Amino acid sequence: MAIEEFGEGSAVNFVLEAIETKKRGGELAEGVIRGVVAGYTEGSVPDYQMSALLMAIFLQGMTYGETLALTRAMAGSGETYSFPDCVDKHSTGGVGDKISLTALPIVAACGAPVAKLSGRGLGTTGGTIDKLESIPGFSVDLSEERFRRQVEEVGLAIVEAGDLAPADKAIYALRDTTGTVDSLPLIGSSIVSKKAATGAGHLLYDVKQGSGAFMKTPEEARELSGLLVRLSESLGIRASAVITGMDTPLGSAVGNALEVRESVRLLRGDAVPRDLADEARTVAAKLLELKGEKDPERSVEAALSSGAAYEKLERFVRAQGGAANALDNLPTSGTVREVRAPRDGHIAGFAALDVGRAALALGAGREKKTDKIDPAAGVELLAKTGDRVQKGDPVARLHGDRQAERAEGLILQALRIQDEPPQPAPAILDGL
Ligand code: URA
Repeated sequence: MAIEEFGEGSAVNFVLEAIETKKRGGELAEGVIRGVVAGYTEGSVPDYQMSALLMAIFLQGMTYGETLALTRAMAGSGETYSFPDCVDKHSTGGVGDKISLTALPIVAACGAPVAKLSGRGLGTTGGTIDKLESIPGFSVDLSEERFRRQVEEVGLAIVEAGDLAPADKAIYALRDTTGTVDSLPLIGSSIVSKKAATGAGHLLYDVKQGSGAFMKTPEEARELSGLLVRLSESLGIRASAVITGMDTPLGSAVGNALEVRESVRLLRGDAVPRDLADEARTVAAKLLELKGEKDPERSVEAALSSGAAYEKLERFVRAQGGAANALDNLPTSGTVREVRAPRDGHIAGFAALDVGRAALALGAGREKKTDKIDPAAGVELLAKTGDRVQKGDPVARLHGDRQAERAEGLILQALRIQDEPPQPAPAILDGL
């Protein structure tokens, strides 16, 4: 039964009807979804009813029309921006994921403006805002006017996403404590609502797949990618997606200043692990393709080899308050210890989740919302998949003085060493 005939009833009536309809596998009308989302955001729908509805959605699923209505309702629940000429990217979350810090200066150097609102780290997943704040003097808090001016003048600005899509924030927190996170329509609407509120006209989704990601299998990753692109296009955003591996961390560095340093190396043309170099180039080229660039791979190579991408990063850092030579004066930890290989063999990878947990234990992220980050803390992997090591060789460096023993145990648990060389896995698994 569709219940659009519901009229002006209270939010509580709306939500009761919605629960009844959804638990029987019925379809919710757009007006009902809007009423429930508005009621929950303003506080007239209590947590217990919203939880019951979320569980019914988790069990029964949602049609595409319902998912789109939920996305629209959450996107419009707070402030919204509009940057139709700009590009943006969204990663579903990974360990050592510094693609925003590397691919975005490249595309900005190629003339595609970037207006980005980013978040902080969540659990073992790092956040671009925490990474940028490790740069001395850098501010992630600009007025809207200054943000817009910087996008126009520098072509790249990244600030903290304040009160965008507050309905999603409230619903996500409830899902996190009611076992309703891993539902495709709820994940898709949550992600796209935030991006739609940000307002970029061209959007690339980097959907992570593997043991360290939300999406464990190729099928799940493809399904989510398809939904994200379809929802975005329904909302007038040009979108595409890449599916990238997240069994093992991306690049070598995990932790805020460590990741900025590795990004600087890539943009300056110094050696970085192949997976990171390939993924940054691919994401940058896909973003330029969305903007209609004819030969995006060539533009990416030119921006890197000419130094234009690194200059763009420097200019962006200065514009947001970064101190002179900030990128050469990133914080370093006074406490560094090495982890050594327990046996001879070939590195088959480091389990991403355990490396993320080790970085968290060292102080690179927050175990509780109120925890203070150590910007210099984290893990540097000294060996990558395929390398041959001997017992006693250093395989990782731990930076930071919090819970170093626990971090060492987690790295040893993460480390996979085998006798045979492993099959090389590409950084980019799929795309649409
Ligand atoms: N990331 C989000 O923003 N929302 C989800 O539901 C899952 C991952």
